[in-house]
Amino acid sequence: MLLEVKNLTAKLAEADKTILKGVDLSIGKGEVHVIMGPNGSGKSTLANVIMGNPKYEVLSGDILFEGESILDLRTDERAQKGIMMTFQNPYEIEGVKLDQLLLIAYRKLHGEDKTFFQLDKEMKTLVDEVGLPHEFLERFVNLGFSGGERKKGEILQARFLKPKLLILDEIDSGLDVDALRIVASQINKIKEDGTSLLIITHYSRILNYLDVDKVHVYVDGKVAMTGDKSLAYEVEETGYAIVK
Ligand code: ADP
Ligand code: MG
Ligand code: MG
Repeated sequence: MLLEVKNLTAKLAEADKTILKGVDLSIGKGEVHVIMGPNGSGKSTLANVIMGNPKYEVLSGDILFEGESILDLRTDERAQKGIMMTFQNPYEIEGVKLDQLLLIAYRKLHGEDKTFFQLDKEMKTLVDEVGLPHEFLERFVNLGFSGGERKKGEILQARFLKPKLLILDEIDSGLDVDALRIVASQINKIKEDGTSLLIITHYSRILNYLDVDKVHVYVDGKVAMTGDKSLAYEVEETGYAIVK
């Protein structure tokens, strides 16, 4: 297994509010898993706890990555191991250009395996693929980007950086149908590169374009039901009452 989340409970560090209430989830190499759950059920919290956001405190359970517990690792150490997440609401980073961020992050993850010219060429190919102008690379990260541009920027970063595990937190929210298709096709290419994916979403519509191994219905801080793609369509029809 690449990722094993075992009976994980976690709370906000600054308040006595337990949000994760016994999450069990295992993702194998190259697999694509989807988590669907109602607003406020703790999906973003799960993504943040896997990533090691210090805003949250793990109370019990474990998170294993490639067979080893990562609970004691800082966020940057988890990133270095090959775990990456994209944000539901991506941050603006004034003063840092997207191409600089991509180059520094790539070198940190993969060292000197490609020349600057190769990397520069790959970046330009990727902005072409997501349908943005090359100037996009020279703008400050997310500053003044439209919602769709932010999501495209996030997926472009993931494709370029080639993590082992990619967690996408509502990458599909707020996208029009053409942008959704572009993002989905990038997700498929990320999978082809061998990355495992955990896709958090409210809607089954992105699944129309994706190959998916498992769908988990996530309610009140834990996985309540697991199935294949058809489960996502059932949820869309029935609502989350399906778990009762
Ligand atoms: P989801 O992503 O499924 O919508 P979240 O993980 O964002 O859910 O939130 C789970 C619950 O934890 C919600 O009730 C939310 O209000 C609460 N929560 C999350 N982060 C914070 C925070 N920093 N301060 C207060 N409450 C929070
Ligand atoms: Mg939400
Ligand atoms: Mg969320």
